[in-house]
Amino acid sequence: MKILAVLYNGFKAAKAEPRLLGTVENELGLRPYLESLGHEFYVTSDKEGPQSEFQKHIVDADILITTPFHPGYLTRPIMEKAKNLKLCVTAGVGSDHVDINAAVDHKIQVLEVTGSNVTSVAEHVVMSILNLVRNFVPAHEMIERGEWQVSDIARNAFDLEGKTVGTIGAGRIGYRVLQRLVPFDCKELLYFDYASLSAEREQAVGARRINDLQEFVSKCDVVTVNAPLHDGTRGLINKKLLSHFKKGAWLVNTARGAICEADDVAEALKSGHLNGYAGDVWNVQPAPKDHPWRQMKNPLGGGNGMTPHYSGTTLDAQARYAAGTKTILQNYFEGKPQNPADVIVGVGKVESASYGQR
Ligand code: NAD
Repeated sequence: MKILAVLYNGFKAAKAEPRLLGTVENELGLRPYLESLGHEFYVTSDKEGPQSEFQKHIVDADILITTPFHPGYLTRPIMEKAKNLKLCVTAGVGSDHVDINAAVDHKIQVLEVTGSNVTSVAEHVVMSILNLVRNFVPAHEMIERGEWQVSDIARNAFDLEGKTVGTIGAGRIGYRVLQRLVPFDCKELLYFDYASLSAEREQAVGARRINDLQEFVSKCDVVTVNAPLHDGTRGLINKKLLSHFKKGAWLVNTARGAICEADDVAEALKSGHLNGYAGDVWNVQPAPKDHPWRQMKNPLGGGNGMTPHYSGTTLDAQARYAAGTKTILQNYFEGKPQNPADVIVGVGKVESASYGQR
């Protein structure tokens, strides 16, 4: 079989650090395994446009492997050219780079290494909330500039204790965020999700579900987004919904960039309606140099906690998603059943309940 992987270039870092498995150089550690079985394995980072290596090789590939960090966007028109394609494996979590509905129509299975980096992301979310609420980034930048003016930082620094925090999506990541927030003694922990947590799980973290999204955001000092990108979440956080946020709220989105309207968020931050925005996901990736989220600031010159997409690709996470990718391939080659939680799209059917209510 021909297996195509779209990964990001690790350059010097990948040569020096073999645990950077999600890179073109280190190939998820899969080459010896795949070649021992006689498969052809092609790895590239070149993924944009009809002349890209991705679009050239997808035409006769049987399996596509890609990461959400540097996704090969598998649109319906590209799928139509990919006559042999039967399986897409996401080395990580979040398969929105594949047109799920088109995959159903083309009987292409979509699997991901469910759970492989959810703790990594939950930790990043809690860090980002604290960074914003405590006004950390401007404080650090001041120190680097050689200055010292505590009042300029403290005028916009708060405690997380006593604040209301809510997650949009209370699945693997959202729930882990709630768990990690328990010791901070927040005023309330809320969630918005069409799938309710069990009473035991709600009680374990002291969280309350709010069914109306406008009401939910209007109660939160901090909103964190932990739902997949699908038709029901694309552009969910826009000018209209932002107008229902508390003035001075903080927003953290490590789910997917396209869940937020980029210009509406930048405008809300600039006006001070949002006090801060942090996350690591962008629509599209790599983010263009002039993306408004790179430079956006609140009226006091802070409130930006953006990073490149790395929360779910710590070295610990890479070990897990590389191993999980191999297991999915092994199951596929040997005709063994897959872990049901890994199956986003089975043959001709969406299997995951997380990609919208169907
Ligand atoms: P999960 O499937 O365990 O949970 C997702 C939850 O979102 C589910 O409970 C689902 O019901 C809920 N949901 C779906 N649509 C919703 C909607 N319209 N409104 C409210 N809730 C909704 O997934 P997970 O493992 O928690 O991951 C969530 C997402 O996080 C992934 O799909 C991916 O996009 C993103 N992610 C990002 C990184 C990163 O590195 N930044 C890494 C892993 C995952």
